[in-house]
Amino acid sequence: MIIAIDGPAGSGKTTTARKVAQRLGFIHINTGAMYRGITLKFIREKVNLDDPLDIDRILHNTQLNFAGIDHGILYMDGEDISSEIALSYVTENVSRISALSKVRIKLVEFQRDMAQGRDVVLEGRDIGTVVFPNAEYKFYLIADIRVRAARRKKEIEASGEYITMEEVILFLKDRDKQDSSRHNSPLTKAEDAIELDTTDLNIVEQVNYILNIVN
Ligand code: C5P
Repeated sequence: MIIAIDGPAGSGKTTTARKVAQRLGFIHINTGAMYRGITLKFIREKVNLDDPLDIDRILHNTQLNFAGIDHGILYMDGEDISSEIALSYVTENVSRISALSKVRIKLVEFQRDMAQGRDVVLEGRDIGTVVFPNAEYKFYLIADIRVRAARRKKEIEASGEYITMEEVILFLKDRDKQDSSRHNSPLTKAEDAIELDTTDLNIVEQVNYILNIVN
């Protein structure tokens, strides 16, 4: 069974998806982490985005693997990059890299292979619309921008960086705009997705809402 959870940054997807997967005994696949991993590689290798061969070279020579309890650790070419992909310099570049069609084709194939024949909760931007349009359950999480920004600010500060609330709001709006307006697989709610506004919900309520529907 496939459960798809999509939505903008800071809407609560990752924590919700992880906990729903734990409660159901499903695998959790965080597709945003994959796009962040490839972005990190592009930055490190100083890939020329106007050169399709350079892009192919990276995509053919990069191995991504999830490991650990709840698939919470991401390895790239054998290196644990879980902490680094959360840093701002990756976040600031990820929307640009994930808009490239070659990148999306590669990662969507990887996501489908990982989920094939398994019980999975996948979270991202295009799971219910593109990756698994026939998913048994689709949820689209939204939340007020200030609540999303407060969540994101907490995450950023947990990784040792400092940022003002106004800056977080600007960055979130910019990322939402890029993710929603791109030509390839834009962030959008699938017609048959159930929308859940998490503004006034805590994590237990979000998880229970989804579990009640799935059960
Ligand atoms: O979920 P997270 O905020 O970590 O995702 C980082 C970025 O990866 C998003 O802003 C988006 O640009 C990209 N992404 C995507 N498609 C997905 C998941 C994430 O384009 N399925």
